[in-house]
Amino acid sequence: MKDDGSAATVMLGLPGFVLLAVAANEVEVEQEIETTRVEDFCRGCGVVAKLHDRRPTWVRDLPSAGRPVALLWRKRVWRCVEAACVVSTWTETSEHIAPRSVWTERARREACRRVGEDAHAVAQVARAFGVGWATVMTAVRDYGTPLVDDPARTDGVEALGVDETAFLAANAKHPTIYVTGMVDLHARRLLDVVPGRTSKALHDWVSAQPEDWRDGVAVAALDPYRGYATALSSSLPKAVRVLDAFHVTRLGFAAVDDVRRRVQRDTLGHRGRRDDPLYRIRRLLRRSAENLTERAWERIFAGLQAGDDGEQIAMTFIAAQELRLIYKRATDTETAARMLHTWFERCADSNVPELHRLARTIDAWRDEFLAYFTTGGVSNGPTEALNLLIKKVKRVGHGFRNFDNYRLRLLLHCGVDWQTPQPTRIKGRLPRLAA
Ligand SMILES: [Zn+2]
Repeated sequence: MKDDGSAATVMLGLPGFVLLAVAANEVEVEQEIETTRVEDFCRGCGVVAKLHDRRPTWVRDLPSAGRPVALLWRKRVWRCVEAACVVSTWTETSEHIAPRSVWTERARREACRRVGEDAHAVAQVARAFGVGWATVMTAVRDYGTPLVDDPARTDGVEALGVDETAFLAANAKHPTIYVTGMVDLHARRLLDVVPGRTSKALHDWVSAQPEDWRDGVAVAALDPYRGYATALSSSLPKAVRVLDAFHVTRLGFAAVDDVRRRVQRDTLGHRGRRDDPLYRIRRLLRRSAENLTERAWERIFAGLQAGDDGEQIAMTFIAAQELRLIYKRATDTETAARMLHTWFERCADSNVPELHRLARTIDAWRDEFLAYFTTGGVSNGPTEALNLLIKKVKRVGHGFRNFDNYRLRLLLHCGVDWQTPQPTRIKGRLPRLAA
């Protein structure tokens, strides 16, 4: 027998099952179901089996109308009537409901998708389906691991981004624990995360990739951390290493902050307070000059006039802006090299120790800095966008303690193409049912 084609069975949508009855209250929905298989044959001798019994089995399914669903599956128990046969009775099975499972496979798959693609909290999904936290997490592992392990997921990377991100914030027992993230900069996809922010962590991960994968990586963007550069030069010798523009810009503004704090301390004898003129413009000093309003400029000038003894902050602010503008203005390596040279000279001419230090850092990364202009401006920008997603996953997970769970959740959210089909829009749609 095929399914009965009734509206109820269509709503159930579970192949091989028909819906017999429904009961509901405000909290949940109960659906009584049975399979469409009304006859069976003995596995032992092949004779037509006799219906021996019904064994009611409760399982959870996809929520219905916003409520958790409990399916009551009236399982058939079959019996062989052949006296000489060793087989006595057996219970029917279904690929949609695993033996002893508390919920259907489609519910498990959907729970994994909600946690992975939608980054919903496991507890929230557990509540929606009416199952326990650990049950959801098992489904996330069972359905998510193959997606994450799929070798096609990391195929064809031409531009690799490397960045660190905090995994666990510092507490009384340990300092901040970092992980290293690898990103496909073109596909904007998180490839993997590994514990630690060491040269070895990155080197081991890259070296574990197939040779043709490593040969395919033409460019690697990284933050100014020597350990990553060392790892990339040994594991991806053919890839051009590019210093990430975002991090360079951040270094410049960090120098402005350092100088502001020092000048503040030297002139006032204490750290910045709410009403100190320099403290009040600290955020404005971290902005791009072209995004400052007239009002913001006025506040900056007033603040510097009141507190910038010796114009050291102003000088560093200008240097930080000019460093970022090299990225905007230079279209080729020669121009960039010339602008960088001028910038170095101005830093050297200043009497600001923080600027000297910044210039030394950039100088140590000169090749990687200039490589930006030969590689068509590859940027770790996508990595930074992914870092926002990573923060979201961490917030939802209330901080992870288990690295494997953390990695799985991150990769499911930022590293997997879910290809979830989109329903037709309500506006302008035509009924499928018109007969
Ligand atoms: Zn038999």
